[in-house]
Amino acid sequence: MNALAEFTGNLAHYLKPPDIERIEEAYQFSGKAHEGQYRDSGEPYISHPLAVAGILAEWHLDPQALMAALLHDVMEDTKVSKAEISRRFGKPVAELVDGLSKLAKIEFQSQQDAQAENFRKMLLAMARDVRVILIKLADRLHNMRTLGAVPPAKRRRVARETLDIYAPIANRLGLNNLYQEMQELAFSHLYPMRYRVLAKATKSARGNRRQVVGKILKAIKQRLPEAGIEAEVSGREKHLYSIYRKMLEKNLSFSQVLDIYGFRVVVEDRSACYLALGALHSLYKPVPGKFKDYIAIPKVNGYQALHTTLFGPFGAPLEIQIRTRDMHRVAEAGVASHWLYKTSDASINELQHQTHAWLQSLLDIQSESGDAAEFLEHIKVDLFPDEVYVFTPKGKIMALPRGATAVDFAYAVHTQIGNRCVATKINHELAPLRSELKNGDRIEIITAAHANPNPAWLNYVKTGKARSHIRHFLKTMHYEESVELGEKLLSQALRALNTDLTEIGEEQWEKLLRDITAKSRTELFADIGLGKRFAAVVARRLLAASEQPMAEGNAGPIVIRGSEGMAVQFAKCCRPIPGDPIIGSIKKGQGIVIHTHDCPTAARSRTDPDKWLDVEWAHEPARLFDVGIRITVINQRGVLAKVAGGIAAGGANIDNVIMDEERGAYTEMRLTLQVADRQHLARIKRGLRRIPEVVRIARERD
Ligand code: MN
Repeated sequence: MNALAEFTGNLAHYLKPPDIERIEEAYQFSGKAHEGQYRDSGEPYISHPLAVAGILAEWHLDPQALMAALLHDVMEDTKVSKAEISRRFGKPVAELVDGLSKLAKIEFQSQQDAQAENFRKMLLAMARDVRVILIKLADRLHNMRTLGAVPPAKRRRVARETLDIYAPIANRLGLNNLYQEMQELAFSHLYPMRYRVLAKATKSARGNRRQVVGKILKAIKQRLPEAGIEAEVSGREKHLYSIYRKMLEKNLSFSQVLDIYGFRVVVEDRSACYLALGALHSLYKPVPGKFKDYIAIPKVNGYQALHTTLFGPFGAPLEIQIRTRDMHRVAEAGVASHWLYKTSDASINELQHQTHAWLQSLLDIQSESGDAAEFLEHIKVDLFPDEVYVFTPKGKIMALPRGATAVDFAYAVHTQIGNRCVATKINHELAPLRSELKNGDRIEIITAAHANPNPAWLNYVKTGKARSHIRHFLKTMHYEESVELGEKLLSQALRALNTDLTEIGEEQWEKLLRDITAKSRTELFADIGLGKRFAAVVARRLLAASEQPMAEGNAGPIVIRGSEGMAVQFAKCCRPIPGDPIIGSIKKGQGIVIHTHDCPTAARSRTDPDKWLDVEWAHEPARLFDVGIRITVINQRGVLAKVAGGIAAGGANIDNVIMDEERGAYTEMRLTLQVADRQHLARIKRGLRRIPEVVRIARERD
């Protein structure tokens, strides 16, 4: 019988003929797509997806999952698109295959334990449907079973990854057999010599052991009915990897580990567990301090049993597990993994309940061979609804709350990175700082030495850390900036009166502060900077406090660097950039607002000369400025990429892009760029005009 016939034969146990037909179609399709591809073993590639689907059929997974398993490598390895899979096999199958392809793209690099834990969480979070994880685990299991044909260096890497990432996931899902097999296979490939030595030693010790085990079994099986307890008793064989781990962790020799005998007692109900415990403690003396009651206090993954260690008949310790049939089922095929119970029981949400119920049903199905498809049909779960996992440029994984943005990420990395961030690259492409992060994204933050947090960030940051740092920064900076600006403004106003701050004496200051009931000069400067007091008025009062005659002078403009922070703002209506002729307007409580000379909004209120100030740009402004441009382009594929490329080539950041609805042959794009000045903008415009599809470029003003 060939492999396909064997596979479909197994399906007939739990699926209906039309479903099996669809699955065969997926097989044929995948076979064609992989035509001419071979595995390291030399077999045609299709043998792998078929084997993966075969493993899933043993777990009685539904037809969609089996089709996805057969197709799991076609998007990665062949030219088949998601749309085509969706058309032929339906959207749910396409989503599963797409999810698997995304998992295949992310790579685990770090060796640290904490990172492995995050990586496992990321895998679980990316697989929004738990079936994706199950297919991935089956995929890995088959790769492990056939790892011998793979070159040695890759073999070790895959084995290590299986031990660090996939076996623990299987364990969490409670898939105990899978967990054991993965560990044994990984151990044999990672440490082939140690594996061989241990395998040989266990084999030769077995005959001896069998006698001892037989004697103890007999004694236990006799004692329990005497106490009126019905029980199934069995000896436990140890897996090589767990022997190895015990030797390593507890610093024991092989014979010390092997000298420990394991037995399992399965009884009817909870009270029988304690009765059995009592009976066994009267049969052999218990080792003090070794009794553990996991029934009263279950392990985090839901495991329940009584554990005790007894002094055996030949002085060898006997490790005994006592549990009910239900507890046994959970322990063997597993169910409640700890990520399901990450928080307290009370807060387990509906989705988690569903997943839990589904895993439970999987167990019941395995033992009673019920109808799996029914349960599996509606499973769409979000395993980690509250967190997203992203990479730093160095491959470190960070966990952030769902909805977190690049700014949250920047603050999570370091406060100074957050305070200085100006732009971000997500998966190597420039993106707005407000971009919401997705699982598996690689985030790079671009900082500038003089950049400051923007109050607008408060509208979208998700983490408390980012929020409190931005607030703190704005609060302290705001005050300091206002003081600095107020001093500038007052000194300008004094120059207009032909004098200077340095010429004001202590007495004058004291009189003025008394008159206006200000606590200090600093407070006065801050008030001026914030627009609560007018510099010209304060200057006149200062002079009035002295005997000096007043004279008209020339104030000269205030120099704007762009690093003044909150005390100087740039009007949203005209968005001035260095090189634009500008004027400043004093707004009460806000400091100075800078407009362009020709701004229509500014023109409307220009009538009040007291509120307007002469300002000019510094020679070298301290930062980049936002500017809006509107580009009309001919509708053509890839035109946005060309425009973005042109802008990047001009050395500017793109902060935001809005594409208007297509109107016939043309589309309008509105972009917010960060540029140094007018000349910089002009250079970028020149570059963009060289793109054939660009019809028109204009600076945007409201
Ligand atoms: Mn595969």
